[in-house]
Amino acid sequence: MQDVIIIGAGVVGCAIAQRLGRYSGKVLVLEAANDVSCGASKANSGIVHAGYDAVPGTDKARLNTKGARMMQGLCSSLGVPYGKPGALVLGFDADSKPALEALLKKAKKNGVPGCRIIGREEILAMEPRVNPEVSYALYVPESGLVSPYELTCALADSAAENGVQFQMNTRVKSLRREGDAWLVQTDRGDYTSRTVVNCAGVGAGELHNQISSRQVEIIPRRGQYYLLDHTLPLSFQMTLFQLPTPMGKGVLVTPTTHGNILFGPTAEDIPEGEDTATTHEGLQEVLKKVRLSYPGANTRTVITTFSGVRAHEKGGDFIIGAVEGAPEGAFEAIGIESPGLTAAPAIGEEMGDWVAYFLKLPANPRYIPPTPVPKAFSAMTEQERRVACQTDPDYGKVICRCETVTEAEVRRAVRRPVGARDIDGVKRRVRAGMGRCQGGFCMTRVMEIISEETGIPFEEVSKKGSDSAVLTGPIGEARND
Ligand SMILES: Cc1cc2nc3c(=O)[nH]c(=O)nc-3n(C[C@H](O)[C@H](O)[C@H](O)COP(=O)(O)OP(=O)(O)OC[C@H]3O[C@@H](n4cnc5c(N)ncnc54)[C@H](O)[C@@H]3O)c2cc1C
Repeated sequence: MQDVIIIGAGVVGCAIAQRLGRYSGKVLVLEAANDVSCGASKANSGIVHAGYDAVPGTDKARLNTKGARMMQGLCSSLGVPYGKPGALVLGFDADSKPALEALLKKAKKNGVPGCRIIGREEILAMEPRVNPEVSYALYVPESGLVSPYELTCALADSAAENGVQFQMNTRVKSLRREGDAWLVQTDRGDYTSRTVVNCAGVGAGELHNQISSRQVEIIPRRGQYYLLDHTLPLSFQMTLFQLPTPMGKGVLVTPTTHGNILFGPTAEDIPEGEDTATTHEGLQEVLKKVRLSYPGANTRTVITTFSGVRAHEKGGDFIIGAVEGAPEGAFEAIGIESPGLTAAPAIGEEMGDWVAYFLKLPANPRYIPPTPVPKAFSAMTEQERRVACQTDPDYGKVICRCETVTEAEVRRAVRRPVGARDIDGVKRRVRAGMGRCQGGFCMTRVMEIISEETGIPFEEVSKKGSDSAVLTGPIGEARND
């Protein structure tokens, strides 16, 4: 019998798990995929939204600004890349001024400091590559950047260091209250728990509707992106938004915490929550819209395209807390679309404390504060690199040449408390395969290291779990086919 079962190991589930690590109790996270951060939390814009867009008075607005205030401190305690370059919301005609003023008003109501409307000259002085036909912009100095999957992995590690257990490849099929406990039925057997917390992203609506008197509709809303290689100097320092639409914050141009540039996302309602395909039409639309902000945009340095799926609830707000009309002990954080990454630290804190309060869990006397992820070799000074190589000679072997990731780092990615078990898991934790060649050179060496560290046979090491085998058999056999 568990005290808490958390369903879904995205940034929200991991933030809640990490908070619950401060309490004494049996906490289990069940995740359908082969790793944490496999849903929306791995495929988004990575923006720490300041909070100018959310409707004042909603949970979305409150948790957005609270999460944004918490993010920098959390990232520094976890050793996760974070930056605060600021943002511009661009307007291209005289009509855009009232819309920008409305955003400024919302920003003030939501308590976002420092925002102001600026004109063309100031915009171009800040970001000379912006379309010179721009008229006005909302300047948002508090807008930040975070590495979403590194944040999720680090939260999971911190939770695991405090006794939270993670079980991957386990899809929750149904929830039912039986006596004093919740029966959680999965494709790998049944579990019981005093409480359940549903944070299953696009899969959360189905579980919610099994137990709640208030039916919800989670609409999967896909966003497609281009990712550009990191070039020096960066073409933009700040995030460039266009005016938001009813479908979201629109197409943006932004640097990432690792110095790449991101173009996107689209906002398309799709029938299947797990459909992360990119399409020719979607990517063409991204490019067309990006060129309004940045006429010089081209795809010469694109290294990959990808998409993520938002869990948009029809009502438009986050749904968090005890599940309405359900038997006691059921909690949820669902409909967590953008700015859910930004809000995650706040959702984790509030939900973790609610559940602990409900269960009357005592404080964890052996609580271990987060251990920051060590500095990447690529970010070290020459002196730091020399010391690292002396301490661990595996720092002397570069595995991923595009991102300068060493063998010591790949091995550590696998050895972490919630360690990588597939190629993409290593990529999200230490960036091997994240660069220009997208793993073309380092993939087989990464597979060997995963195999050596975990005992998974080399030929069974996958790209991202179950149905993503990389090798189909020995070369000799392939020749005979
Ligand atoms: C295109 C796009 C751009 C975005 N940009 C931003 C941004 O710039 N800033 C920002 O703040 N937010 C942004 N967001 C929103 C943010 O990414 C999400 O709000 C956040 O990642 C949601 O986290 P989550 O943990 O709720 O969901 P997810 O990360 O989707 O995690 C849910 C997990 O549940 C698992 N799961 C599903 N069903 C089951 C089941 N039945 N049993 C077990 N496990 C299950 C899934 O495998 C998944 O791992 C963006 C989202 C998208 C898609």
